[in-house]
Amino acid sequence: MSQSAIKTTEEIVSCSDNGQHPLVYISLKNGSGRCQYCGQLFIREEAASEQSQQAA
Ligand SMILES: [Zn+2]
Repeated sequence: MSQSAIKTTEEIVSCSDNGQHPLVYISLKNGSGRCQYCGQLFIREEAASEQSQQAA
């Protein structure tokens, strides 16, 4: 089976594997996280920001 990572801009994601296991919340503060029940991998992507910061 091929299980692809889910990319999200959220810092906290939820997973229930379509109801196959209890709903759990996974923190992506470290950049990625894995569901302890189904092993689904989540990767946090930085949201596209329209704000440009320029260093002087
Ligand atoms: Zn899961």
